[in-house]
Amino acid sequence: MRTLDELTRPNILRLKPYSSARDEYKGKQASVFLDANENPYNHPYNRYPDPLQTELKARLAEVKGVSPECIFLGNGSDEAIDLVYRAFCEPRVDNVVAIEPTYGMYEVCADMNGVDYRKVRLDDAYDFRADDMLRAADGRTKAMFLCSPNNPTGNSLRREEIETLLCRFDGLVIVDEAYIDFSSRPSLLGELAAYPRLIVLQTFSKAWGCAGIRLGMAFAAPDIIRIFNKIKYPYNVNLLTQREALDMLRRSAADVEQWVSILLAERGRVMDAFRALPCCREVFPTDANFFLARMTDADGIYAALVSQGIIVRNRSHVALCDGCLRVTIGTPEENDALLDALRKMD
Ligand code: PMP
Repeated sequence: MRTLDELTRPNILRLKPYSSARDEYKGKQASVFLDANENPYNHPYNRYPDPLQTELKARLAEVKGVSPECIFLGNGSDEAIDLVYRAFCEPRVDNVVAIEPTYGMYEVCADMNGVDYRKVRLDDAYDFRADDMLRAADGRTKAMFLCSPNNPTGNSLRREEIETLLCRFDGLVIVDEAYIDFSSRPSLLGELAAYPRLIVLQTFSKAWGCAGIRLGMAFAAPDIIRIFNKIKYPYNVNLLTQREALDMLRRSAADVEQWVSILLAERGRVMDAFRALPCCREVFPTDANFFLARMTDADGIYAALVSQGIIVRNRSHVALCDGCLRVTIGTPEENDALLDALRKMD
């Protein structure tokens, strides 16, 4: 088993992180803040936000059933994806292994960071085998990316295979659970203590309806979280986002549950309607708030929908998704607009 020090880039291990004014101030009694070159006027926006989002993490820890030291918060989960590379992958030396097709930012961040990105194709059921991932790895593989439920395919990956990979790979395993709230399968969050190299990503952007505030979560063992905190920008989660997220968490979870149950019911209805469309060849099973559909002429249908102001995601040129559109579930009215437009095309 490689140690976390061995997995970490040497310059990051040696790094003396920036210490912000708010980092150094730990007292609770102070009332005169002349330490951060802020403007004393224009409360509350004049003050820098809490760099470690202490209050928000405390509340999230309760909701998620993990300890606050196991939580990293970022400007979307995209920030955590980028930090994996910046912290652990030496440019032009290290590599990562990821399933294909999957969420595009894993590869974009690899390219931005000069890290070799190795793709392992999913099988016909859009599932993966731990063995195939391990075969693609070598001594310079620092991390493996899984996404479950996967984007753009929608399905969850087989749990036993994920756990096999966690047992057999001695680097980091990132499991992106951006869509987990739409799935009936349990999250891997409960397994954090069992797997010291597991990083679970979740986000406020999907079921929580907060894509606009940019708040992503990474859950992992405290030694991994400490490395993320060491290299993140000092005030990476702004004041408005921290406040809004706390408000969301104060609102009853029933709101989110209600949105999810409406979206799941609509998902069933829209998928059934797609199965009945002559222009639809196949609808793939999904655990997310979207589904993949293979169409008779994906490019033509996509363009015709765009011309009517209805935008779906054309995935027809993505590996294993030829001829496929990815459809996000909207409100009943939005879904009807899509279905009406498609029915008129047939
Ligand atoms: N992971 C997956 C699988 C996604 O599909 C997305 C967004 N489409 C993200 C992460 C990014 O989420 P965030 O808004 O938290 O950056």
